Amino acid sequence: METHFTKDQLKNKDNKSSEKILRKCVHCGFCNATCPTYLLLGDELDGPRGRIYLIKDMLENNKPANEKIVKHIDRCLSCYSCMTTCPSGVNYMHLIDHGRNHIEKTYKRPFSDRLIRNFLSVTLSKSINFRIIAILTQFIKPFSFFFPRKLKEMIKHMPTRFPKKTLPKKQIYPSQKKKTVARVALLTGCVQKVISPQINEATIRLLNRHGIEVVVSKGIDCCGSLNHHLGKSDLANHTFKKNISIWYDEYLKNGLDAIISNTSGCGTTLKDYGYIFRSDDDLKKKARKISELTKDISEYLDENVKLNFIKNKENDKGYKIAYHSACSMQHGQKIHDIPINLIKKTGNQVFNVPDGHLCCGSAGTYNLLQNEIASQLLKNKISNIEKINPQFITTGNIGCIKQIANGTEIPILHTVEIIDWYTGGPKPQILKNL
Ligand code: SF4
Ligand code: SF4
Repeated sequence: METHFTKDQLKNKDNKSSEKILRKCVHCGFCNATCPTYLLLGDELDGPRGRIYLIKDMLENNKPANEKIVKHIDRCLSCYSCMTTCPSGVNYMHLIDHGRNHIEKTYKRPFSDRLIRNFLSVTLSKSINFRIIAILTQFIKPFSFFFPRKLKEMIKHMPTRFPKKTLPKKQIYPSQKKKTVARVALLTGCVQKVISPQINEATIRLLNRHGIEVVVSKGIDCCGSLNHHLGKSDLANHTFKKNISIWYDEYLKNGLDAIISNTSGCGTTLKDYGYIFRSDDDLKKKARKISELTKDISEYLDENVKLNFIKNKENDKGYKIAYHSACSMQHGQKIHDIPINLIKKTGNQVFNVPDGHLCCGSAGTYNLLQNEIASQLLKNKISNIEKINPQFITTGNIGCIKQIANGTEIPILHTVEIIDWYTGGPKPQILKNL
């Protein structure tokens, strides 16, 4: 694609990177064929190619965003299905991040939008805030019909139960083997640790049992992606910098073999820290190291751990499991077969969900901000899952777990819970009746 940035504009590092990305696009439109919003809405501007043109126009012409541009960019899920399809290697992720930051700087959203987005930014990115708001929401849930539609939807998505933790809160969970073979940091996440603490507990138990010490560093809560995807770059950068500094110190002082993410949405962002700080002289080396150290739990287990699988005596025949490949896992991190192969080693049958490249509609805060599109995507996902008729569903991302659980009675759990169970951990609570 031809671009027309001026020399002055190209002094800006983001313009410079976006120009390179834009020049790779050959307008072929292959990406539209796998874009969930284009497939649903059928509008060129709701597909990647159209959005690329909108962003190009804003950046090149120093144009402030307007209502029309914001509508189509906001409808993008950041699922990155278009990046998997693109034959020219266009990095749409970095381009849309730049576009969103530009919108945040140049467009004044209507008051109600600003209120909701600020509320989400403050609430979801801090586990303590989220816990307080989630508890308070229980009291207003019965009266939610009084609220405007968007708020009503948000209230509907708030958790109704908060499972009890079974592991004590510690900063270091030592290896359970005589010899410690590795030392890793675990990102426990902002929302995940409140609504599904069992995922972190399964991860810690599993790693400890296999001789790995797990560090949960004080001061690290959110990975920063919630604010990053809302276009709130200052808030996101504050979190990124804090995380980089804490983990890098830990790496230097006590050694870290990896930083483990068990939520693929967060893992995708951690792996991008190096790019985000590519021009920051103080941070670029540290940020790159943090990205290099980051591994999804499935990736880490596959590459580094000899798992001791145990036969399930309760069920010799094995279960029929549907594997939902989270977008951030398959498109963001390009991890697809690894979790499936790990589950196969448990002796169960695993099936890919038909049309599995399409998003379930969760996408961070998307199901709260774009409820109609998200609901349609969820409906399609559930209908595809039902074609498999599984006994349960598994995936590697908390957002997908919660979204899919809103649409079906079929139990859904994190892949690490299955691996933990089949290597000596407890049977997940959600499967107690199976
Ligand atoms: S990130 Fe997803 S929703 Fe956005 S343009 Fe690409 S495929 Fe479409
Ligand atoms: S598939 Fe790639 S090159 Fe083709 S229009 Fe989409 S982004 Fe551009």
